[in-house]
This record gives sequence, structure tokens and C-alpha cells, in this order.
Amino acid sequence: GLTNRLSSVFSKLRGKGKVSEEDLNEAMREVRLALLEADVNFKVVKEFIAKVKERALGQEVEKSFTPGMVIIDIVNKELTDLMGGTNAKLAKANKPPTVIMMAGLQGAGKTTTSAKLAKLLQKQNHRPLMVAGDIYRPAAIKQLQVLGEQIKVPVFTLGDQTSPVEIARQAVEHAKDNGLDYVIIDTAGRLHIDEQLMEELKQIHATVKPDEVLLVVDAMTGQDAVNVADSFNKQLELTGVVLTKLDGDTRGGAAISVKAVTGCPIKFAALGEKIDALEPFHPERMASRILGMGDMLSLIEKAQSNIDAEKAKEMERKMRDASFTFDDFLEQMQQVKKLGPLDQILDMIPGMGKVKQMKDLKVDEKQMGRIEAIVHSMTARERNEPDLINHSRRKRIAAGSGTTLTDVNRLIKQFDDMRRMMKQFSDMMGGGGKGAKMM
Ligand code: GDP
Ligand code: MG
Repeated sequence: GLTNRLSSVFSKLRGKGKVSEEDLNEAMREVRLALLEADVNFKVVKEFIAKVKERALGQEVEKSFTPGMVIIDIVNKELTDLMGGTNAKLAKANKPPTVIMMAGLQGAGKTTTSAKLAKLLQKQNHRPLMVAGDIYRPAAIKQLQVLGEQIKVPVFTLGDQTSPVEIARQAVEHAKDNGLDYVIIDTAGRLHIDEQLMEELKQIHATVKPDEVLLVVDAMTGQDAVNVADSFNKQLELTGVVLTKLDGDTRGGAAISVKAVTGCPIKFAALGEKIDALEPFHPERMASRILGMGDMLSLIEKAQSNIDAEKAKEMERKMRDASFTFDDFLEQMQQVKKLGPLDQILDMIPGMGKVKQMKDLKVDEKQMGRIEAIVHSMTARERNEPDLINHSRRKRIAAGSGTTLTDVNRLIKQFDDMRRMMKQFSDMMGGGGKGAKMM
């Protein structure tokens, strides 16, 4: 994938004390290919490379003791800018309710996202109303009602015989009368953009004058998603994009190009079918995720809302100065287990993406059990001073944990790799000027 390719470009640059123009050109050639392969719009790629080169050839790199790091930092920042720079917040009406209209092609995830968004708002103590504006697809109303029941958010419907424009109008009145402060209008989609679909959306728009028009696009469709966004935007004045299915095997192209092509910021990212799999979109986090630096901020935020705040802080500090031991490792594994699907969590930890990709290493729950057994078989001193663990100790640990010497060796290697990567990551953040703010 994209992250993989970029990681290997960067690992070549990382250690260099001097970066020649030739090195830079070669790296940029590879970055360019990686981006194109990830289905990023070619114009966007061209401008991006030009900007990075311009900055890299300027004084920044020459003056630095770690030019490789500076280049990575430049790429990171330009990528962040390309995706909008900072998190674009949901608009809020001066006078409630705030009206949010969802738009998009069929199957993009409008209905699911409506419910996810309602859930997010509800968590922030708002009182959302969802509106069943798709009267065409059989069972579309029912789908929204089921989701509404699941999250205890009211659903406004007038069945499938009233026009969506009228439904939307009455729904907003209903919200006003009942003190509901957000109205989320789910609408119909079609397989392709057509005039009838646009006409209806325009009418709804003209009638309820939404504060937000969120276009929901499927990230898996790559550049098609961007083209869809572009055509919707020309007709509807979108205020934001929601990128769905980022949990799948997406190539990243949509996330990188949408803002640059349409001028419309990505406001949310959906990472799964579950109702709480929606997050505000943070360009800087997405950039570091794409660049294989993991997504420390998301992880820490997730940790803070799901696990002990003190422990999360400690974890952050230890990751930063890379001083953690096998005890911390174990502790972290326990905490991580609470956070959710392992695969997603691992992707957020710097270096772990790579570790996960090692062919023979399937990190699943069973694997975690084995790792725990190995760590438990170490003495307290070994856990705190991992460098102590020599060959004969490894043999003892393998026997004690019912695993093999290979298992033990592999874990220790992994642990060392992880420590090294974290160290690199924190050096890079520390050495990269403003990048240090990321933590
Ligand atoms: P709509 O036609 O635009 O209303 O799309 P739906 O909300 O009905 O979603 C279409 C399908 O995509 C459903 O099976 C959803 O569960 C699925 N889906 C929506 N968002 C995501 C996501 O972020 N990740 C994954 N994996 N599936 C999603
Ligand atoms: Mg729908």
C-alpha cells in the first residue's frame, strides 16, 4: 500500500547526514509513483511534488543536521496542508436547529453515517433528529428507524407517499417545536449522478436552507469518489465531505485529493460499519498515518476516552522518550485490548503497521495470549532491563511459557524494533521544528 511504499522511501532518507539533489530527486520520483498508484489525482501529485521539492531545495534541508528528517517533515506538512491543514468543524446554526443535509450516491453510506453522526452529537449532549428522506429505496425508511431505535434518536418520517422536500420541511418544524437542536436529513442516492436526483436535492436545499451539506463518498472508489464530489459540489455547494469505508483496503487517493480538487474539506471519516465508527477528520493525523508514522494522537485520544487517563498520559510519555520496558509492554497490551479491534489499533502505533505486515506474524488474539505468556515468564528484572535477556535466558523463557525459542526471539526482536521506531518517531518530532507540537 501507499504507507508501505512511502515508509521504504523514507527509511532510506532517514539516516542520511547529507541529502544530495540526486537523492532528493530519486525520493520524489518514488513518492510520486506511490501517490499515483494510490489513485491520487495526477495534477494534485504534480503540484505536491513541486512544492515539496521547492521547499526541500531551499535552505531548510541544507541547514539541518538531519536532512532526511527535514524532508520527511516537509512531506508530512505539505500532505497535511493538502488535506485542509486542520480539522474542519461542523457548522452550527445561530439559532437551533442546525440542519444537516446528507447527499451522495447509493451505497456510499449516507444512512449509516446519518446515524453515526447523530450518535456523535448525542454524546456531546445534543438532541438530534434524523429524517427519513429516502422514500424510493425499499426498506430505506425502516433502515433508518432501526438505527434510530438502536441509538435512541428519534426518526421523522411521513412514509413514502409524501415528497422528500415536504418531509424535510416538516421535520425542521418538528425539531423546532420539540426542542431538538440538530436535524440530519438522510436523502436518496442513485447509482449515478442524474438530473432527477440533483433536482430533488436542490429543492430540499432551497426549502430548508441547511447549515451543512455533507457529501458522503466511499473512499474505496478512489478517484471516482473525487469526481463524484466535484460534480456534486458544482451543483449543490457542499460544505463538507464524509469519507466512508476508510477501514477497508483503500488506497488513500480519495483522502488526499478531495480537498485539493473540490476545495471542500473532509469533515468526518468513517472507519467501519459499527455505529461508533465515525471520527472528526484530522488532516495532520491522516498525513502521519499515511506516512507510516502511526497515529499517535488518535490513539492517545481513544485511550483517554476509553482507558485510565493517568495511564494514557504515562503511555504517551513513555512512547515519547522510548523508555518503556516489557512491563509497560504488557500493561499496554492489556489497555490496547480494551480499545477495540486489534488490527485497527496496531495501525495507529508507529512501526506496528510494519510489524504487522511481516509475513509470518499474524497478530491476533491468540498471538497476544502467547506474547503475554512469554512476558510473564520473564523475571521482573528481565522485564525492566530487556537487554539482559541473552540466549540461555531466552531458552528458559521459552520453556517456561510453553513456547519455542523462535517465538521468544521473534518477540524480543519485535520489541526492539518497536522501541527503535518509537525513538525515531520522537526524535523526528522533536527535531522537526514545529512538528514537536503534534504531541
Ligand atoms: P446509503 O445508500 O448511502 O444510505 O448507504 P448505507 O448507509 O445504506 O451503507 C451502504 C453499506 O455500506 C452498508 O452495508 C453499510 O454498513 C456500509 N458502510 C457504511 N459506512 C461504512 C464504513 O465506514 N465502513 C464499512 N466497512 N462499511 C460501511
Ligand atoms: Mg440510504
